Amino acid sequence: MPEHDVISRVPKGVLVNGRSRPAARGGTLVVEDPATGEPLCEVADGTPEDGMAALEAAVAAQESWAATPPRRRGEVLRRAHDLLVERAEEFALLITLEMGKSLAESRAEVEYGANYLRWFGEEAVRIDGSWKVGEDGTARVLVTRQPVGPCLLITPWNAPLAMPARKIGPAVAAGCTMVVKPAPQTPLTTLALAELLGEAGLPDGVLNVVPTSRAAEVTEPLLRDGRLRKLSFTGSTPVGRLLLAQAAGTVLRTSMELGGNAPFIVCDDADLDAAVDGAMIAKLRNIGEACVAANRFLVHADVAEEFSEKLVARMGELTVGAGTDPACDLGPLIDQRQRRRVADLVDDTVVAGGRLRAGGVLPAGRGYFYPPTVLTDVPEGCRITEEEIFGPVAAIRTFTTEAEALRAANDTEFGLVGYLYTRDLDRALRMSERLETGMVGLNRGYVSDPSAPFGGVKQSGIGREGGDSGIDEYLEQKYVAVNVA
Ligand code: NAD
Repeated sequence: MPEHDVISRVPKGVLVNGRSRPAARGGTLVVEDPATGEPLCEVADGTPEDGMAALEAAVAAQESWAATPPRRRGEVLRRAHDLLVERAEEFALLITLEMGKSLAESRAEVEYGANYLRWFGEEAVRIDGSWKVGEDGTARVLVTRQPVGPCLLITPWNAPLAMPARKIGPAVAAGCTMVVKPAPQTPLTTLALAELLGEAGLPDGVLNVVPTSRAAEVTEPLLRDGRLRKLSFTGSTPVGRLLLAQAAGTVLRTSMELGGNAPFIVCDDADLDAAVDGAMIAKLRNIGEACVAANRFLVHADVAEEFSEKLVARMGELTVGAGTDPACDLGPLIDQRQRRRVADLVDDTVVAGGRLRAGGVLPAGRGYFYPPTVLTDVPEGCRITEEEIFGPVAAIRTFTTEAEALRAANDTEFGLVGYLYTRDLDRALRMSERLETGMVGLNRGYVSDPSAPFGGVKQSGIGREGGDSGIDEYLEQKYVAVNVA
């Protein structure tokens, strides 16, 4: 499908109560193509009035949506899954155009997001409760679960379909209504997804979308409004902290999927080829712009040189280019600011004594491209090991003992995921238990599955998306004490 068709079909207004309309003050924000730096189109730039109108619509729709039979709610999600699969190419192109990743990666994201909708469609009919005899025998304990109520869902730009799908799926399944605030860089996919959910049968007002370039101005009044009952945020840890402070004002329930700083540990007994395969995925999926991206490679000193050489060779085979080019392996970074950050992190590491083994040079020409880069001999205490890189840069350090590897791996405020390569079962289990992370990739460079609880510990977040407990983030328990005379 020609690029302009896929963009022209997206409704570009603020979506309130099933109607796409211009922003209250008529403003627009420009969506850029990161492969060229050129504007793609303009989208309504939502204002605080639009945010409030969206909340009003969500509040108005809450009662009837909560009363809609679970099977019906589940069927909406299942239909949305099927429609997404049918239109995978269209959605993939949209993701690539506004976010930059290769079409192959965008197709994988569509499938991943659709799978979450299907999973939560199945969960809608499994919301359970319990009934038991109270401790002293005089009362019965009835426990039911009810939707939390209207939610604010704030999403990042790095997975413009998957991130909203992971929140909208459980909210819809649980019987919650919502206001979605997508990232200003990538509003198109979310707006198209909202339209598709409408086609799948989601009633007006259940899902409202406010694209805006003024996030805080739009979300603050909603967070102060007692009718909002839940905030689910995916984004950076600093913004997460700020939102948690605001949420304290109304003691709002929150789910936080925040930043990561994943260690990727390669032990001396690891299958090195498998570790390099895993590293390519853990480091380069989503151009390195993933919360679960391997950020710190910790490789046993005895195998570090061989691992580094193999990684350099594999990275050298990749083609960097526009995501729409079928030959492209690695698309551009999201914007100039992000590219500058990545380049600075690499330059600082080299100044501190790190060895540049591949990449590291900004390409000429337009677009926000950055080459796959490998740094070895990275000194302790470099910014690159403390901050989330969010780019295709592997920073490698060595270790000699298991205790040293664990100490280095856990020496971070983040705790989303850790990767571990070893062929020793005892060591695998021992180290997995001691990694201070919500998730571990054991001899695997990819974690995440709708049936698994995705989320972090420490400052990587609160709560889980997916798995048996994913829907709980959108449900309240109610205990009814029943008198039995
Ligand atoms: P960001 O925190 O800058 O923005 C995320 C969202 O919050 C955007 O929609 C943005 O407009 C909005 N926002 C920014 N400031 C705000 C404010 N003051 N009030 C309300 N909303 C505000 O993050 P980003 O750069 O878009 O995304 C990258 C970050 O997201 C990385 O740190 C990454 O690790 C994290 N992330 C985490 C997960 C996870 O599941 N743990 C998944 C994907 C991305």
